Amino acid sequence: MPCRVLWDAFLYYMERYSKILEKEKREIVLLRGRGCVYGKCPFCDYHLDKCADDNANYLLNSDVLSQVTGEFDNLEVINSGSVFELDSRTLNLIKAVCRDRNISTIHFESHYLYKEKIPALRRDFSEFNVKMKLGLETFDWAFREKVLKKGIPDRRPEIISRCFDEANFLFGISGQTLASMEQDIILGLTYFERICLNIMCENSTSVRPDEEVISVFREKIYPKYAENNRVDILIENTDFGVG
Ligand code: SF4
Repeated sequence: MPCRVLWDAFLYYMERYSKILEKEKREIVLLRGRGCVYGKCPFCDYHLDKCADDNANYLLNSDVLSQVTGEFDNLEVINSGSVFELDSRTLNLIKAVCRDRNISTIHFESHYLYKEKIPALRRDFSEFNVKMKLGLETFDWAFREKVLKKGIPDRRPEIISRCFDEANFLFGISGQTLASMEQDIILGLTYFERICLNIMCENSTSVRPDEEVISVFREKIYPKYAENNRVDILIENTDFGVG
């Protein structure tokens, strides 16, 4: 099927290595795993970047990890899903590369449903300072679970944040307001070390960015947090240089 072939080629040649040169400087790699085990968020098409073949993933990931230099002592690893969907050889290679290049801080992402596995991951990577990032999107339970369908049943920020150091938020969707976005940022900065604000972009899903909400964000929120070192802001979802 030609379309499938083109799509696979696009996914293979996505930009998978970059450097984040603002705020918390770090290298970032977009690796490939078996695929997001959750896969139900209606706004997301990242989860299409996956492959059931561990060996093929390892070969691709080895190539990407070979570009890591260690220059910032800090590496962010993302994989269009959760770190627990990476094959074991890739996980071992991340360790070896970080050891070899004197990287002490590693960021991983995980869905909330894996939270019970996070302590073991931290033990496995105990020689490193591991930062776990949650795709929370919002603290507003009804919006998160009824509209964004994130699969995070807990409501209390202190419970949600217990296993995580950092969180992603998604802004720019109909129904969000200045007050709701402000509230998310205030709670995010209270319960997490760092947060990342992602603005909804057009993608292959049926969820569309709401330009009015985005212009409220640009005018009222962006100027307040643009220089905050604990807040990353991605106006385009490729602003970290990968994807
Ligand atoms: S958990 Fe993350 S990768 Fe999986 S569908 Fe939701 S947003 Fe996409």
